[in-house]
Amino acid sequence: MAEKIGRVPVREQDPKARAHNFEEVCYGYDEEEALLEASRCLNCRNPRCVQHCPVGIHIPEFIAQVKAGAFAEAAAVIARDSSLPAVCGRVCPQETQCEGSCILGVKGEPVAIGKLERFVADWSRENGGVPVEKAPANGIKVAVVGSGPSGLACASDLAKLGYDVTIFEVLHKAGGVLQYGIPEFRLPKLRVVEPEIDSVRALGVKIETNVVVGRTVTIDDLLDKEGFKAVFVGSGAGLPRFMGIPGESLNGVFSANEFLTRSNLMRAFDPSSDTPIFVGKRVAVVGGGNVAMDAARTALRLGSEVTIVYRRTEKELPARAEEVHHAREEGIEFRMLTNPVEVLGDEKGWVRALRCIQMELGEPDASGRRSPVPVAGSEFEIPVDEVIMALGTSPNPLIAGTTKGLETERHGCIVADEDGATSRPGVFAGGDAVTGAATVILAMGAGRKAAAAIHEYLSTK
Ligand SMILES: Cc1cc2nc3c(=O)[nH]c(=O)nc-3n(C[C@H](O)[C@H](O)[C@H](O)COP(=O)(O)OP(=O)(O)OC[C@H]3O[C@@H](n4cnc5c(N)ncnc54)[C@H](O)[C@@H]3O)c2cc1C
Ligand code: SF4
Repeated sequence: MAEKIGRVPVREQDPKARAHNFEEVCYGYDEEEALLEASRCLNCRNPRCVQHCPVGIHIPEFIAQVKAGAFAEAAAVIARDSSLPAVCGRVCPQETQCEGSCILGVKGEPVAIGKLERFVADWSRENGGVPVEKAPANGIKVAVVGSGPSGLACASDLAKLGYDVTIFEVLHKAGGVLQYGIPEFRLPKLRVVEPEIDSVRALGVKIETNVVVGRTVTIDDLLDKEGFKAVFVGSGAGLPRFMGIPGESLNGVFSANEFLTRSNLMRAFDPSSDTPIFVGKRVAVVGGGNVAMDAARTALRLGSEVTIVYRRTEKELPARAEEVHHAREEGIEFRMLTNPVEVLGDEKGWVRALRCIQMELGEPDASGRRSPVPVAGSEFEIPVDEVIMALGTSPNPLIAGTTKGLETERHGCIVADEDGATSRPGVFAGGDAVTGAATVILAMGAGRKAAAAIHEYLSTK
């Protein structure tokens, strides 16, 4: 019976209207829609969805509670494994994880697990939240570097186990990429991100902002002088990459990180904010990941005409399908199989065009992907006055450079085992700082694994 109902569509803001505002694009399910969508779940005995959730949320169990209209109980099921459900319900790539392996997806459409998670998390927040069980305080101090998803997940689990946890964060606001990278129209800060961070604080976790670990205090200081018995490093991968082509130092070339940080963390999108942001008339965003989509859609909302320049084809775009679809609906132009070779400037040193070359797909490389190769003599110019580079990021070398015996690999990522243990006893690491730029849920999963490993390390010490 259940399979006969199609996936309940989710309401969204009209593309024409939303291209000019920063309100959330997706409205999410209301109660009636959530009940209907939950009724599609088959409550599988061996649920494939759970196996593909990096934090192991008991998906059929929470959906069964939704089906019964027991929303508080559904929230309690999710809270056992996730401290950021309203965030994950909005930004996780469910299509390649839980939903990607839902049995209903074999012949039809998978259960909208992400939208149901979002509904439950929003309902719970608006109705008083979930009481969480916590072990008695054990007085053992653990430090966490960075307040992104990995640090928050690690800190939550340790606090629940009774540890005295302090997060040290370099920025003036906690949340990592959730705060400075992902835009308001995908992830509202005051309504969603901050309450979820407050729920981590409510567990007793202290968050000290404006602390540069490696400068204000080092990890060695924390362990040797400040009484911390272990440290988790969840410092992310915030160092932007550039292409190394001529003209990248012209006025009007930005990294997506800087552009998005100005708009999100420093609220430049809000006309009442004092933060300056350069709004080009015509903007080229170089790259094809979520960061490129976010930068492009932000520039569009600020009033620019935007073209995404990507060197492979639509099939290889690493961004979530939903984000690409939304970007297209809003009027972003895509130029596939196109690679910049030079940023051209005017006599005053400002960007005037992006010189590109046409690409074609060649033979598959070692990863099996067909690599793009330039088509000789196909160079052309795209007239733009701003270029935003969204080419990926790597970890900032500050922590590795100031912590004795902390091994890194050649891209600057901290070397850590499955459980987050590094080459330095007592120092654990996870999230983007270890893997390079990845996803919120993988970072959370790494934070949770490291919390368990820290507990074991400190229990046997
Ligand atoms: C624009 C953008 C869009 C994205 N969209 C998605 C998406 O839709 N879905 C998805 O799943 N993932 C997305 N990602 C990726 C995802 O956000 C990251 O993989 C995730 O946030 C990594 O978590 P983390 O805790 O490892 O690091 P981060 O979130 O980067 O947090 C690290 C924190 O450590 C702090 N820090 C760094 N150095 C120090 C120091 N020396 N001292 C103190 N603090 C320090 C940083 O300020 C930061 O707050 C996106 C990323 C970006 C940039
Ligand atoms: S695999 Fe799909 S149908 Fe089965 S329990 Fe998970 S969400 Fe429900």
